[in-house]
Amino acid sequence: MLSRVVASEAVHGLMRENKLQILSRPCSVSVESLRRHLAVLCELRPTMEEIQTVVAGARAAYNLGKTRPLEFRVQQLEAMEKMLTEKKDLILEALQKDLHKNAFAVDIYEMVGILNDITVAINKLPEWMEPEHVSKSMMTMMDTVYIHRQPLGVVLIIGAWNYPLALVLQPLVGAIAAGNAAVVKPSELSGNTAQLLAQLLPQYLDKELYPVINGGVKEATELLTIQFDHILYTGSAAVGRIVMEAAAKHLTPVTLELGGKSPCYVDTNCDLDVACRRIARGRYTNCGQTCIAPDYILCSEHIQDQVVKKIVTALTEFYGSDPQKSPDYGRIVNQRHFQRIMSLLEGVNVVYGGKNDEEDLYIAPTIVTDVDPDSRIMQEEIFGPVLPIVTVNGVDKAIAFISRRDKPLALYVFSHNKKLIKRMIAETSSGGVTANDCLSHYTVHTLPFGGVGESGFGAYHGKHSFDTFSHRRACVVKSLGMEKMNSIQYAPSTNSKHKWMNWLLKKN
Ligand code: NAD
Repeated sequence: MLSRVVASEAVHGLMRENKLQILSRPCSVSVESLRRHLAVLCELRPTMEEIQTVVAGARAAYNLGKTRPLEFRVQQLEAMEKMLTEKKDLILEALQKDLHKNAFAVDIYEMVGILNDITVAINKLPEWMEPEHVSKSMMTMMDTVYIHRQPLGVVLIIGAWNYPLALVLQPLVGAIAAGNAAVVKPSELSGNTAQLLAQLLPQYLDKELYPVINGGVKEATELLTIQFDHILYTGSAAVGRIVMEAAAKHLTPVTLELGGKSPCYVDTNCDLDVACRRIARGRYTNCGQTCIAPDYILCSEHIQDQVVKKIVTALTEFYGSDPQKSPDYGRIVNQRHFQRIMSLLEGVNVVYGGKNDEEDLYIAPTIVTDVDPDSRIMQEEIFGPVLPIVTVNGVDKAIAFISRRDKPLALYVFSHNKKLIKRMIAETSSGGVTANDCLSHYTVHTLPFGGVGESGFGAYHGKHSFDTFSHRRACVVKSLGMEKMNSIQYAPSTNSKHKWMNWLLKKN
């Protein structure tokens, strides 16, 4: 068997570099298993011609109008639900291999969101597809005036590796519900899930309308040269800029689901036991590789030690004395990210954790205190199981600290003081906020999930996904009668026509 590290290097090497480089690396695996592994990985790489053919196929199928009827959309959504139920074991196996996720993590953090969005879409689609009648002016009083939500066309969904199932299938639910064709590009870093999606989606969904293109930067770059009608991208801000630049060439609208350093302010007036358990769950779930995880804590100096102690208590309760042995504790996705996270620990004050095992891609839950706001660990998103604590003197300083930095994807505040929570919400900006818990706003399908500023723009989940993938078309349907009234718009203009027109256009 290939070790996790070599396998992840192979994925990385094959996907990001050229295929042969990896073979020159020393590794202790049998030629046969390496060949098998490489064959699987090479299968993931379609040529440019294949990519173009697949996208052209999706457009041709879309142009036939198949996706428009309500019945077709519902049937595809039901098929996706069936896939998730029938192939749950395979999904679990792929996610276990990619990120050491167990059944609980797969159900709660990957599946539930997709299944809920499917249920909501199936139940609400008839209502969402209805014309939305709007108020009228005197001029259009006798007309039918409404917003018609129509599909955008062929959309592209590019997913990231940390929740590799949810991050492609949840947007896909919205794309299907809104009547689009969708090309799905999972992340190559979670190669087992990517490969499984490529196998399963064509078995359950319309093959032409919802193809999966696997591959790495090269394939993503090639995909981005093709004209789509919308792109929903999830990943880093650096690549988000590349996606937006490519989309601009075709004037393609984009939704960018990015990340950032999400702050967590812990007020002195707060139940620290509860707060620290909730923060520990938010930070260390999926080994810290969650876009909305609290990235750092802001608290006053005199509660810092208590916060550390209580988070450690929570961690021991969650993962036992050796988290490496816990089925509930994840792994870092690959060696590159492992080294990146470990390098963030250089020169900082690690008060808890720090233990690691590169071969197993394991980094223990780690806490860092007395962090210098200008240190490297405070400049980039950590995206790993490391929690720095920065001390600030009160809420004013915390708000100033947060506001000086890029707008994050999430913001957390823990306090008994409702006024303080309101103030934090009013005086800062972030994609979403949860007070007195972590991650919760993500799970509410009626809330839009998305970023602001450096953490992205646009949103999805529930009805918001349907809206993201729909064009809101302004429609006025007049009758051919009442020509006398209409004629006041025609030249030659007169004082009386002018007066009537002003009146009719201005009044509601
Ligand atoms: P990644 O490496 O999996 O990249 C994301 C996707 O972009 C992949 O499909 C990849 O193939 C593609 N890609 C990579 N380089 C590209 C290029 N040069 N051109 C075109 N496509 C390219 O994921 P990542 O970037 O490591 O993601 C981590 C970031 O994503 C973090 O910042 C995290 O916070 C953010 N994130 C955000 C959300 C969200 O919902 N807002 C969810 C998950 C992750």
